Amino acid sequence: MKILVTGGCGYIGSHTCCELLDSGYEVVIIDNLCNSKEDVVDKIKQITKKEVKFYKGDLCDKDLVDEIFSKENIDAVIHFAGLKAVGESVLKPLLYYRNNLDSTLTLLEIMNKYNCKKIVFSSSATVYGSPKTLPIKEDFPLSTTNPYGSTKLYIEGILKDLYISDNEWSIAVLRYFNPIGAHESGLIGENPKDIPNNLMPYIVRVATGELKELSIFGNDYDTHDGTGVRDYIHVVDLAKGHIKAIEHICKEKGIDYYNLGTGNGYSVLDLVTTFEKVNNVKINYKIVARRKGDVASCYADATYALDKLNWKATKGIEEMCKDSFKFVKNSNKDLNN
Ligand code: NAD
Ligand code: UDP
Repeated sequence: MKILVTGGCGYIGSHTCCELLDSGYEVVIIDNLCNSKEDVVDKIKQITKKEVKFYKGDLCDKDLVDEIFSKENIDAVIHFAGLKAVGESVLKPLLYYRNNLDSTLTLLEIMNKYNCKKIVFSSSATVYGSPKTLPIKEDFPLSTTNPYGSTKLYIEGILKDLYISDNEWSIAVLRYFNPIGAHESGLIGENPKDIPNNLMPYIVRVATGELKELSIFGNDYDTHDGTGVRDYIHVVDLAKGHIKAIEHICKEKGIDYYNLGTGNGYSVLDLVTTFEKVNNVKINYKIVARRKGDVASCYADATYALDKLNWKATKGIEEMCKDSFKFVKNSNKDLNN
């Protein structure tokens, strides 16, 4: 089976390409490299010892997407491509709506044209807004607080309308919680170009000495130690969830929604102390004011994915902390050589 992976050079996409290739799928990537590098394709080949077809280009480019479908005989699509920085989306909403919506519409139109009606879409726990109770189940009310989140919610709506219009579609909407960690090889992972907004990439930069100290956004939340609690999930576990989703949509038509999380909540301080312990480093930090828009706690009820997809996260936060650091140390070593 041949899978088109949009955004396959990115953080989650690259790990999913490895899992797909290891599971015997053929992989075609389209990525415009706006948030990734082409050498990831070689890293994927190095890890899996398999071939990957790579198209460098924009998913909004209808002629290119048409060309890919006409040449490649695509059976199903995993759609990761998109811009994902919450803060930037507030400053540049039109960029986010144009990129995330236009690329998705182009993709779906061409899929329709070539009668390829199986898609796995990367959504996010951000579509739950500020949940009233925990853990979060898939049928909780949906809302968003920023343009990035709105693009996810709109795309979920587009996919739902598409299925209503044509029951031949098979659609899995995966709502990710907080992916961290990296491939055990240390060859692929997440290393943002700018100063990181997310917790783990920030901790890693403090550990390498590139940043002086971590600012912890509030220690007066109603959580076990006062700092914010999230459901961190190892990116390889997350990638494996996509294989299960592909298997499922090949068996059943319909549209369905799955939380991909571990079901466990860890605080900022839990992550910092675990990182220090497993990597034998010191993470300097200071407590600062809460970050606007943050919720105290957010973690998944992941039982639906277990029941329907037979998927469950298996890796713990120690492994996540170890693998995140290993990847960045490795890539810094490459840069210095
Ligand atoms: P990423 O930025 O590492 O990967 C996205 C990839 O898409 C990048 O390689 C980028 O170059 C590419 N891309 C963006 N716009 C494109 C376009 N128009 N045409 C072609 N390529 C394009 O992000 P990621 O962390 O791997 O996230 C993948 C998906 O999962 C995104 O849709 C993101 O919104 C979603 N998601 C991520 C997280 C997270 O914390 N990382 C959480 C929830 C949901
Ligand atoms: N956080 C923090 N300092 C940082 C970045 C994040 O204290 O520099 C906290 C944040 O307030 C939240 C948790 O870490 O409680 C996870 O934040 P992240 O941005 O990684 O994920 P999200 O808030 O989008 O779930």
